[in-house]
Amino acid sequence: MTRDLTGEVAVVTGASSGIGAATARALADEGMSVALAARRAERLESLAADVADGPGEALAVPTDVTDRAAVDALIEGTVDAFGDLDVFVNNAGVMLLQQVADADPDDWETMVDVNLSALMYASKAALPHLRGGGDLVQVSSVAGRTTSETAAGYNATKWGVNGFTDALRKEETGNGVRTTVIEPGAVETELQEHIPDEEVKRRIEGWVESMDALRPEDIAAGVLYAVGQPRHVSVNELMIRPTDQP
Ligand code: NDP
Repeated sequence: MTRDLTGEVAVVTGASSGIGAATARALADEGMSVALAARRAERLESLAADVADGPGEALAVPTDVTDRAAVDALIEGTVDAFGDLDVFVNNAGVMLLQQVADADPDDWETMVDVNLSALMYASKAALPHLRGGGDLVQVSSVAGRTTSETAAGYNATKWGVNGFTDALRKEETGNGVRTTVIEPGAVETELQEHIPDEEVKRRIEGWVESMDALRPEDIAAGVLYAVGQPRHVSVNELMIRPTDQP
């Protein structure tokens, strides 16, 4: 890492578990002030208390990212508390895998709302603060570049994230905003726990267990790599798979 991040300010959504929690911790370990957003307030409070022992600081801001007013309040609250906003990490996501023929359209709607619509709105809301030298980091997926059976709905949201972000990159590059799409492969987190189809869930859990899956910290290191580059370097896309993931 070549840029000193001490004193910079970040928001991380989905910071109550998995990749978001690890990313928030990694940024705070670099001396950043980090607003932690997700719905499970007690998890955020506990992470904020842990972070307080290190070089950075963290503020728990319970937020449902599908609620636009709550996202506005998250950004305003972050700027009020820490004076600025330099890095916004759109990480909150759900993966409700099902075959199209069996899918519950309400699950599709939930994935579109959380993975795509909320990310689009938060990106727009954060932009005025990021202009002049800020980073927008979108946690997409390998599923944003490839497709697989049972993932059609999830693929649609992550391909949407990639398309939205590359167009936004072209619009904002002249304003000093860097965009990074992070595309993890299999990471050991709670993500699979919510898969509604029991057979699909068992199959995916077995698939993840069959390899030496990534840890959330591996993805956090990718976020740090991108954000830590000198300002003339923009890491637009990072795909990170376990070595033994086909
Ligand atoms: P987790 O299930 O551990 O984390 C998901 C996070 O999203 C939680 O903190 C959850 O918090 C938050 N979240 C879900 N819905 C909302 C909402 N409405 N408002 C606010 N926060 C919400 O999974 P991961 O850490 O794995 O997932 C993080 C991201 O990584 C996702 O975008 C996922 O698609 C992506 N990813 C994960 C991969 C993996 O293998 N694990 C692979 C590729 C991409 P809470 O419930 O407290 O609101």
